Amino acid sequence: MSSIEGVKSIADADVKDKTVLVRADLNVPMEAGRVTDATRIERFAPTVTDLAGRGAKVVILSHFGRPKGQRDKKFSLKPVADALSGVLGKPVKFASDCVGEVAEKAVWALKPGEILMLENLRFHEGETKNDENFARRLAVLGDIYVNDAFSVSHRAHASTYGITKFLPSYAGLSLMKELEALSAALDDPQRPTAALVGGAKVSTKIPVLENLMARMDQIIVGGGMANTFLLALGHDVGKSLAEPDFVDTAKAVMDKAKENNCEIVLPSDALCAKEFKAGAEAEVCGLDGVPSDSMILDVGPQSIADLKLRLQDLKTLLWNGPLGAFEIEPFDTGTVEIARAAAALTKAGKLVTVAGGGDTVAALNAAGVTGDFTYVSTAGGAFLEWLEGKELPGVAALRESTA
Ligand code: AMP
Repeated sequence: MSSIEGVKSIADADVKDKTVLVRADLNVPMEAGRVTDATRIERFAPTVTDLAGRGAKVVILSHFGRPKGQRDKKFSLKPVADALSGVLGKPVKFASDCVGEVAEKAVWALKPGEILMLENLRFHEGETKNDENFARRLAVLGDIYVNDAFSVSHRAHASTYGITKFLPSYAGLSLMKELEALSAALDDPQRPTAALVGGAKVSTKIPVLENLMARMDQIIVGGGMANTFLLALGHDVGKSLAEPDFVDTAKAVMDKAKENNCEIVLPSDALCAKEFKAGAEAEVCGLDGVPSDSMILDVGPQSIADLKLRLQDLKTLLWNGPLGAFEIEPFDTGTVEIARAAAALTKAGKLVTVAGGGDTVAALNAAGVTGDFTYVSTAGGAFLEWLEGKELPGVAALRESTA
């Protein structure tokens, strides 16, 4: 089933005068008590503005960090509430607990259109344990539950899963937007469609490759994981990051992809160096010319030119993982050039580009093209599980909720 079918959007619900509990992922980067990257807050803000504008009493639930079931001041959401207030240009009230008397009093004092953030859910161990009693204590605070946090929907926690048993449950605006974008790229893409899968190791991406080969016309393999495929084809990869134990797996992936009419695209040359450090001397190598004391750290210029041509014939590109060791120049070249080429085609209306995963987002930010892609998911684990074709418990719970 497509991940979006049967999920009700909060846009279609009557929320006037109702207390709406909204699960967000406001686990934002913070230094010395200040939010250093407000991307997640900015993406969540329209959901709050919409609900408050429609006369709901908005109660925000989130986790922050890993306090492991203990109250710990350094994991307080208070600075995040202040940052959200700044983004919204409206007051955001704060309650120092997410359940019990403190939370109840703060919720009951709310008027329609007002906004309240509750303290970190993970100060209670019932949250990550999906404890039924804790889920019930959360649920008594509201009339309606909204999940607006794709990035935690791969977890069956009390605030993403258990709570849907007790309240009518909906997807928030940004969850809906994320599901629609991801679904358009994976479930029903415009063809031809390719997935670019990069990153360090093939061993962590096998379920991803297996799911994608049944859906994509091409899988472009890059990064360290391509080295194991090159080994499987008999190339000597010198001291490159590779997994000899997974050579047979790589062969099996290539065979199975062929049966599925999915083309596996590997680099045709490489950028190599003897050391992985800034300023290391880099040389372009043919696939049979990698020196035994050298490492493949990026795709080479021929591969970049081939990939740019390939992009021109595609209608959809799904991207997870860098093409090379992009953290250090010049090994970011392949990732940056392909990101810019894909962004230009997207801007010209010729290509739908959907990307996700922590390193991928960092690489697209470094290339300065995040805003030009069709959709960039900031979710890490949830994005990977979705690429694997797994049903995310937090999304399934919305579909199954009969409360
Ligand atoms: P992952 O966490 O699997 O998405 O992998 C991302 C990491 O893979 C990044 O830190 C990259 O530096 C690294 N990486 C990509 N290509 C290579 C390569 N050819 N050799 C070593 N590391 C690489």
